[in-house]
Amino acid sequence: MAFEIPRVDPLPFRVAVIGGGGTGAALAWDLALRGFRVVIFERGEFLSGTTGRHHGQLHSGARYASGDPEIARECMAETLALRRLVPDAIEYNGGLFVALDGEEAAYGGRFAEACAEAGIPAREVSPARARELEPGLSSRVERAFLVPDGTFDAWRVPAAFLAGARELGAELRPWTGVVGFDATDGRVTAARVRDRARAAAENRIEADCFVIACGAWGGTVGALAGLEVPVTPAAGSMLAVKGRLCDMVISRLRPPGDGDILVPQRGLSIIGSTQRLVESPDALLPTDEEIAFLRQSGAALAPAFADAEIDSAWCAARPLFGSALDEAAGRAASRDFAVLDHETDGMAGIASVVGGKATTLRVMAEKAADLVCRKLGVERSCRTLETAPPSWRDLYRGRAP
Ligand SMILES: Cc1cc2nc3c(=O)[nH]c(=O)nc-3n(C[C@H](O)[C@H](O)[C@H](O)COP(=O)(O)OP(=O)(O)OC[C@H]3O[C@@H](n4cnc5c(N)ncnc54)[C@H](O)[C@@H]3O)c2cc1C
Repeated sequence: MAFEIPRVDPLPFRVAVIGGGGTGAALAWDLALRGFRVVIFERGEFLSGTTGRHHGQLHSGARYASGDPEIARECMAETLALRRLVPDAIEYNGGLFVALDGEEAAYGGRFAEACAEAGIPAREVSPARARELEPGLSSRVERAFLVPDGTFDAWRVPAAFLAGARELGAELRPWTGVVGFDATDGRVTAARVRDRARAAAENRIEADCFVIACGAWGGTVGALAGLEVPVTPAAGSMLAVKGRLCDMVISRLRPPGDGDILVPQRGLSIIGSTQRLVESPDALLPTDEEIAFLRQSGAALAPAFADAEIDSAWCAARPLFGSALDEAAGRAASRDFAVLDHETDGMAGIASVVGGKATTLRVMAEKAADLVCRKLGVERSCRTLETAPPSWRDLYRGRAP
């Protein structure tokens, strides 16, 4: 049976989304559902930026509950929403936070209180029960809490949104990078794009509103319009070994830091991550020190990680919200997001969405699309909470080579 998306009357406005990662994909879907004509530009393959390389943890928010209750609440709400909207891209396996020493065990009280305040169900279980649930877990576990974390497929969630947007008429333009903007009287009227799939042809694309959803590249793309988009790229490395050493997402019971989450993905176990600020989000590689550190960190949680065969190691750029952060500020930077109307910077017709997490891509898109509506004087509310997108498979089905 064909998948039917309930449609609304088309609007006479064209919106250009720049950046085909998870945020841009969710935004294209949201705008198309509201009736906008949408075009989305991605300079490479869709999802080839940070989105296609993240850890794959669908955050319940427990990780952030004590330090950043707002993002924790948001993660919990979005976890529930995504589980309902894109179930075939999610493995609802649950999460365990474990203390491996006295200091971490002592943090348990604050952790439990903060989760309760943020509305995240966290239930303490005995170390014996934790090891019964996850036999590969370290025997050093002193305290453990069950939380509703999960694993999701980094590609399939946004691929479903792209499939839905295209079904509603959105124009998907992979391999098409924005290389400049044209502005008249303080208003962006067109983007200049280079289409690498068509012999690098350069075109001028007009739209009523442009939204930069370029993650860690937001600063570079904003600069093309003379804007300062407050994003600092931070490299994060991950290490995957062959075999599932756990079925749940296992985290250290302590404030967020490096090498403290073990995520099972398909037939792999992935430990992550690290963080260091970088000049450019391009061509990032993990260092030998990071790989050695991650190997040790994985083994602390699941001892078999120490000798498991390495499958891969990679690095991706975290889009930290904030300009020119130093290392200390970068570590403390919130994982929350912001939607910026650049009319306040003297440039109309353009906005940015910055920061955030893959778990919160839908709500980031909702807030960005709300801003587009306000800018264009349109009253159309968000429909992405009540409308499931088609399957991610539909992005590829029926495509000519
Ligand atoms: C190591 C690491 C692990 C993480 N793990 C998790 C996790 O487990 N769970 C979670 O929820 N979040 C996680 N995150 C965060 C999450 O991955 C990001 O917040 C999210 O993927 C960002 O999506 P985005 O669409 O904003 O950016 P991106 O996915 O980077 O998309 C931006 C796109 O813009 C494109 N672009 C750049 N310049 C141009 C241009 N000139 N023209 C057109 N397109 C352009 C890029 O090619 C890119 O594809 C992790 C991040 C890192 C770094």
